[in-house]
Amino acid sequence: MAEEKIDTADSVEGAEKKSAEKKKRTNPTPINIYRRWCKGCSICIVLCPQNVFEADPDGYPVVAHPFDCNQCGICWLHCPDFAITSTEK
Ligand code: SF4
Ligand code: SF4
Repeated sequence: MAEEKIDTADSVEGAEKKSAEKKKRTNPTPINIYRRWCKGCSICIVLCPQNVFEADPDGYPVVAHPFDCNQCGICWLHCPDFAITSTEK
């Protein structure tokens, strides 16, 4: 019986690229939340694809996983109160 060969080169390469990209992220404060403007609506927490935020006991966002931020911009573009800015862009 012929053995089926599965080419995993693409997926391995993709995983390596992702891992290298993540390793490069060393900024502990990739974004700033201007707390006085934030109303704790949770939009940023829900929309962040990288799950960078966690809610504090009052429901306000905390940048809990800064090295996971990929600067996609979704949080600052959707914050209704303009309370989020990037420190890198
Ligand atoms: S989207 Fe803006 S106002 Fe809403 S919780 Fe996040 S920072 Fe605060
Ligand atoms: S820029 Fe993107 S990845 Fe970074 S915290 Fe905002 S939504 Fe999350």
